[in-house]
Amino acid sequence: MPGFELFGDAERESVNDVLDNGVLMRYGFDGMRNGHWKAKALEAELQKTFQTNHVQLVSSGTAAVSVALASAGIGAGDEVIMPTFTFVASFEAIMMLGAIPILVDIDSTLTLDPKAVEAAITPKTKAVMVVQMCGSMADMDALKSVCDKHNLVFVEDACQAIGGSYKGKPLGSIADLGCFSFDFVKTITCGEGGAVISNNKTYYINADHYSDHGHDHIGSDRGAETHPFLGYNFRISELHAAVGLAQVKRLPEFLALQKRNFDIIRAELQQIPEVEFRTVPDGGVESCAFLNFFLPDLDIARRVSQAFKESGVDACFHYYDNNWHYIRKWNHLKELKSLFPIAQEVKEGLQYLQGKTYKQSDSYIARNISCLIKLSWREEEVKQRAKKMAQLIKANL
Ligand SMILES: *Cc1c(COP(=O)(O)O)cnc(C)c1O
Repeated sequence: MPGFELFGDAERESVNDVLDNGVLMRYGFDGMRNGHWKAKALEAELQKTFQTNHVQLVSSGTAAVSVALASAGIGAGDEVIMPTFTFVASFEAIMMLGAIPILVDIDSTLTLDPKAVEAAITPKTKAVMVVQMCGSMADMDALKSVCDKHNLVFVEDACQAIGGSYKGKPLGSIADLGCFSFDFVKTITCGEGGAVISNNKTYYINADHYSDHGHDHIGSDRGAETHPFLGYNFRISELHAAVGLAQVKRLPEFLALQKRNFDIIRAELQQIPEVEFRTVPDGGVESCAFLNFFLPDLDIARRVSQAFKESGVDACFHYYDNNWHYIRKWNHLKELKSLFPIAQEVKEGLQYLQGKTYKQSDSYIARNISCLIKLSWREEEVKQRAKKMAQLIKANL
């Protein structure tokens, strides 16, 4: 996945354009720029890449999720349904708004189970946030119909799935709002950065204003702009956008390398009858950022994960024992360890996590191994790696 692996002259040249001009800010200073608008240009590129009407760049993927929810009017006391398997950013972005994350089970897609979503809906539910984890997706038609039926905002975190698609549409572009991260380890990187995309013009205008102190961005005199509503600062800088602009142009090359490497490893592992791959919904095409497979049980998965580590097969994760991506180890959330007082309604809203178990999610995550697919691997290297992985799996069954 990491775009940082392939870095070079194009990125350097693009950053130098900005430094030579001296305008590091994405808004204003029109007279000084000599035509350089890196953030605007990146938004235009992403609009084409993700086949969407509107793109708002922001400072991170976490900011993107929070800005997306805020743009749809989600805030204090509202419940947002999200999966048990994701990055900690998902609940952070919800809690930043004073809203309440409601964690529900995943299924064999490793993403939200539509039945678990429907079962978790209450009168306070305002949104469903699907996270397209590790390069693949949920059953989006099923989730969309649940959202339509209950009149919920549908948000899609596609931070780890750039380049994947569902029924011909890019992941991130299917729900009401899509979120991307361009942090240092994502498929394309800005260093730090993110984007909110939508076909809904109101959500887009809200995101545009909210992510820049509520500025209306009308006219070219920032000092004369008004503030139709409150906002914060989640802006991206021209320097970061400049890196992303060079990277996005290389996305087709990155995705082709990812797919080549993914296919080699998958073809080798699928010869082992005990290895089962994640479910990809009908009409779905993985981004190939990760290869995910299930082993027969937790013990085998732990042994294989350990054997991979000891034998130098790097970048493979057993998320059951990992602190960042799965509810099991999120004690700071379960115990609500906050630096500052948390609103009473959020505390009460999170009570359900006390002693809660997620048997269905455990049954998938305990057996899952998720291997990052790197772009820098040479073809011969990937073939050797695939053979070694197969050997280590067979030796530990
Ligand atoms: C990386 C990531 C984020 C957050 O992105 P940052 O840019 O690091 O804030 C959110 N969701 C998922 C699924 C991610 O992988």
